[in-house]
Amino acid sequence: METREISVPGYERVVWGKETASGYQGIIAIHSTVLGPAVGGTRHWHYASHQEALTDALRLARGMTYKSALAGLPCGGGKSIVLEPPASDGGAVTRERLFRAHGRLVDTLKGQYITGEDVGTSPADMEYVLQETKYVAGLHGRSGDPSPKTARGVFRAMQAAAQHHWGSSDLFGKTVAIQGCGHVGYYLAGELHRAGATLVVTDVDGARVDRVVREYGAAAVAPESIYAAEADIFAPCALGGIINDQTIPQLRVQLVVGGANNQLLEPRHGDLLEQRGVLYAPDYATNAGGVINGCCQEMLGWDAERTVEKVDAIYDTLLKIFQISNKAGIPTYRAADRLAEERLAKRAAG
Ligand code: NAD
Repeated sequence: METREISVPGYERVVWGKETASGYQGIIAIHSTVLGPAVGGTRHWHYASHQEALTDALRLARGMTYKSALAGLPCGGGKSIVLEPPASDGGAVTRERLFRAHGRLVDTLKGQYITGEDVGTSPADMEYVLQETKYVAGLHGRSGDPSPKTARGVFRAMQAAAQHHWGSSDLFGKTVAIQGCGHVGYYLAGELHRAGATLVVTDVDGARVDRVVREYGAAAVAPESIYAAEADIFAPCALGGIINDQTIPQLRVQLVVGGANNQLLEPRHGDLLEQRGVLYAPDYATNAGGVINGCCQEMLGWDAERTVEKVDAIYDTLLKIFQISNKAGIPTYRAADRLAEERLAKRAAG
């Protein structure tokens, strides 16, 4: 394996790896280990250029530092990318060869970075990684599918936003518009149904919509109609960048609380929501349930009950963010950053 350290200001370590025999090319970015070993999944994706892949790795690694700090976990932030081999390869590069090579690169960092699943990777890929390094989480038979816990955390964040905005955390009778009925959206729909909320849902996959309609009595709308749905809360659980100049004017809701990563297309869209009186629950605080679950069970050895309590504490984190936002007169997405930065600075100061 040919490796190269890349110096990036503000990042502890960035390593580039290439192995001709396996067709592997990958990047590991460690943003911070101030709070503990850097935790963050492996993304397997096609990028137009190496620079684009590096930029994504850096952005995602930094996001993990903030997510872990806000969730109160003894973990830092990192992320890795396994580049999709070019199509010209004709399928000669197998997943086993790719992910075993990735495991070897992860192992060179000796536990400074712990990986797991992310977009484009599965527990089966992580089993290959495990053959080469012990620094991997989220395997079959361990903490398992993170999405029910992610959904639980989103539900708790929604209760906190309701408490802050309406003076009661009770979601009974509230209407929630859910975009995306995949892993997180489906489990979130279940939590909300049990709490007595009314559901409006959409997905580009009709079978996924049908399941939520059938099981939870949700009303279905077309994908492009979800933004203007008559609802109290909008829950983005599909794509990033969906809070933008086109969608904000359509929103009729008072709260935006969902599981999707990077919901704001640009930071200024967080300001725009604020100006329109829509309370936004910052995504990386809201969707931390999965990482909390993996970290508490696999790194700290906690049992399920204690872990759920930690996921449920997302409620308190959100209330704190809303208080900072009110007190400092800043939008909630900036209040979340401030809280995370305070926790990091406190630890760095000893
Ligand atoms: P998923 O792939 O299971 O579900 C996403 C769903 O969105 C799919 O059903 C897909 O068909 C649908 N979708 C795609 N484009 C759409 C569109 N234009 N309109 C409506 N629906 C559309 O993924 P997931 O695991 O449920 O994750 C959802 C989001 O939450 C992602 O942004 C993910 O990064 C984020 N997230 C997930 C977890 C987790 O534990 N799974 C943790 C943190 C963050």
